[in-house]
Amino acid sequence: MAKVPAVGDGTGASAPAEAAPAESTVDIAPAEAAPAETSPAPAPAPAPAPAAPADAAPAAEPPAERRPPVALYLHVPFCVSVCPYCDFVVYAGSAARGPRSLVEPFLDAVLAELELRADGLDMAFGAPATSARPALASLYLGGGTPSLLGAGAVERLLERVVARFGLAPHAEVTIEANPGPDERGDLAGFRAAGVTRVSFGAQSFADAELRRLGRRHAPDDVADAVAAARRAGITSLNLDLLYDLPGQDQERWGASLDAALALAPDHLSLYALTLDDPEAEGLAGPLGDHLATRPGARRWRERARADQDEDRAAAAYELATERLAAAGWRGYELSNWARAGHESRHNLAYWERRPYEALGPGAHAFDGRTRRWNAARLDAYLAALRPRSGPPHLPPGGAETPDPAQAEVESIVLGLRLDRGVPAALGERPRFAAAIGWAMANGLLERLAAGESDRLRLSVRGRLLSNELFARLV
Ligand code: SF4
Repeated sequence: MAKVPAVGDGTGASAPAEAAPAESTVDIAPAEAAPAETSPAPAPAPAPAPAAPADAAPAAEPPAERRPPVALYLHVPFCVSVCPYCDFVVYAGSAARGPRSLVEPFLDAVLAELELRADGLDMAFGAPATSARPALASLYLGGGTPSLLGAGAVERLLERVVARFGLAPHAEVTIEANPGPDERGDLAGFRAAGVTRVSFGAQSFADAELRRLGRRHAPDDVADAVAAARRAGITSLNLDLLYDLPGQDQERWGASLDAALALAPDHLSLYALTLDDPEAEGLAGPLGDHLATRPGARRWRERARADQDEDRAAAAYELATERLAAAGWRGYELSNWARAGHESRHNLAYWERRPYEALGPGAHAFDGRTRRWNAARLDAYLAALRPRSGPPHLPPGGAETPDPAQAEVESIVLGLRLDRGVPAALGERPRFAAAIGWAMANGLLERLAAGESDRLRLSVRGRLLSNELFARLV
């Protein structure tokens, strides 16, 4: 049975708040940038991805030193309602809107966390926007539904990010949004605050599929949202789509793809619906980065899982690969396609295993050596950062430091997710030779002559079977 490459969804992209990036065989993010100013300047033309260290993907000896972040992820844990398949850290209902909303307390708390994390970076690397600590190349507001924040709140957040982390000229500043008219937020206000990129959680263009997924928007809302974003001056726009949905046939999936292309987005993230049980993985609990699955969602997943099919998922992936290639799109990562110059610079930092900072409940960060995460629970997060007495302190969470061998495997697996692949010399290293040899013999890997460096990357067949190769590399 073929396996599809990756997974997940948030409102939008990957995000490190499992949220991050939230989508991958190797789970580094929840999920899925930065200007030196937040003035309402015209959106900058897409700039090239921040220069990665030479051969950023798979270094032979992964660096073990702590390094300053190149990107910042900020998790906004609120949605109007919770989709039953969602694994992100999300609070809905009265927590998200109305007189008992926790949005304002959360904003106070995340601003306090921002100051504390920045203090730590000041001590380790000195002031921001210096040679020892370059300004951020990317800021990503993920969720949840960050577009539920007012433009004033986004402006406040960006102002503090600029002050404490620095944002490079032409940095990528992304906000995830839902397409519905009451959820897409003040797109012109976001643009004026400094947002350069919007990621809409479209998921499907079939009304019945959207309803089955518990989404609140209708297919036409996506077109309206895209038009509103363009009017607001957003020049880089992503749509998320899901496949292997219960009851979805190839014709309907192809129709959703065509509908998405007709809206002329700049980036597409295509994920197979995944219905893992976070509790079964031991990720929920006081220090876990997931919330417990709600009983209704658990029942929904059990029913939906029975109607999933790996072969159908593989066929959907192949169909997307062919159709997007024919339309001139580049599949630069297993689950991500972009028009030239619109690759997600933020998510590239994850795949290149570059350091990133993260704020908010459930958010994951990586400093080049150690991965740490905040616990998912909002009450504990608020209690730490808005204490009844005394100064705010960092919220509960956990950390782990891969040993050099694990770090190297991570670099290779992440590098293979990208279409530029990894240096072919890695295949000659004794510990990987058997897996690489097996993949070459079975047509999962192909050689790519890129300049002077001979590289290996996944073939189309390899993309479909990537999990089998990754398991052999570990
Ligand atoms: S919109 Fe649905 S899938 Fe996206 S973060 Fe909110 S609850 Fe999760």
